[in-house]
Amino acid sequence: MDKVLKIGIIGCGAIGKDHCRRIIETVPGATVVAVSDYVAAAADETAAKYGIKSYGNDCDGMIKDPEVEAVVITSIDPTHHDYVMKTLAEEKWCFCEKPLSQNAKDCEEIIRREQEIGKRLVQVGFMRHYDRGYAEMKRIIASGELGKPLIIKACHRNVSQGPGFKTENGVTNVAIHELDICRWLLDDEYEDVQCVKVRQSSNSDKGYDNPQVMLMRTKKGCFIDVEVQVADGYGYDIQCEVVCENGTVKLPDPYAVVCRSRPAGWDSVKPAESMPIMTDWKERFIEAYDIEFCKWVESVHAGKLTGPSSWDGYVACVAGDALNASRGTSQFLKVETMEKPEMYK
Ligand code: NAP
Repeated sequence: MDKVLKIGIIGCGAIGKDHCRRIIETVPGATVVAVSDYVAAAADETAAKYGIKSYGNDCDGMIKDPEVEAVVITSIDPTHHDYVMKTLAEEKWCFCEKPLSQNAKDCEEIIRREQEIGKRLVQVGFMRHYDRGYAEMKRIIASGELGKPLIIKACHRNVSQGPGFKTENGVTNVAIHELDICRWLLDDEYEDVQCVKVRQSSNSDKGYDNPQVMLMRTKKGCFIDVEVQVADGYGYDIQCEVVCENGTVKLPDPYAVVCRSRPAGWDSVKPAESMPIMTDWKERFIEAYDIEFCKWVESVHAGKLTGPSSWDGYVACVAGDALNASRGTSQFLKVETMEKPEMYK
């Protein structure tokens, strides 16, 4: 590929550093030319590692840099909307990590701005679309060979959360992936949703609900049950099973190899069959993130984005708002979106 897309990254935390490495070392046709972060030292450190420009904490200045053709937003959730709008003000390509925003109203503003520009410029980091397991599940469901999908049983379990995590972030930050992937898997839209508080785990007596169960009903009549645990005490565990009329499809475990053994030095323990469970999202979805970025860069070079759009980010937030509003009401609340603009059809 002759042309190289010059990218600036906002946010040099866990995923920002990982995407920086990914783009520089593995993605053809792209490189990172500048980084910035709320904490100047974090940007300086990443910039020094790769010999690129640090904008310190001047994230707005980096967006305006004429050398920066595309902006990757990997700062914390509450900052996404503002940085997307600033990138759109420059009419530059924008890859925004999930969530697009923390509420639907802010996403609407992004959608309106894209309409004014007349072109899709934003892709949202819903990387599960590029995961082999989910892609194969979608193919099987769409083929119709198992009949129509009836029920989805899913769970999203995390080891722990950072300071400041709130109950509603179980939806806006965590379940947002399921809100996106379920409608993508089913090629369906949400009718109504309800968030249910269930028996609480002692792993997380820190002022937020854990677990939470999120129930969604789709327009075609499918029922979805997502268990969200944000402090499960053991690992990063993502599961999904779709029950269809004539069979089921299930997300495969990420480790394909099963070990049958007796643990060394444990003669009194019965031999067992085991498969490790990952603890880190970076490792679990590494291939999906790589493909996601390769495809994004390819589509930017082609001048037409193909990955998850602002519309996808918006719909997930509309459902998320309804889930958060439903908590404690024992009621399903309608998921009502604006009319889908032509650009996203
Ligand atoms: P993180 O480690 O906390 O990194 C976020 C970085 O942004 C930190 O360096 C933080 O600085 C910085 N920051 C805070 N406020 C900022 C501001 N106003 N302007 C610029 N930078 C600011 O978090 P992370 O795990 O990398 O997550 C970053 C984003 O990626 C989140 O939105 C998250 O939802 C998303 N994410 C997506 C996936 C996925 O599966 N697609 C996985 C992980 C994360 P401080 O340390 O000072 O706050």
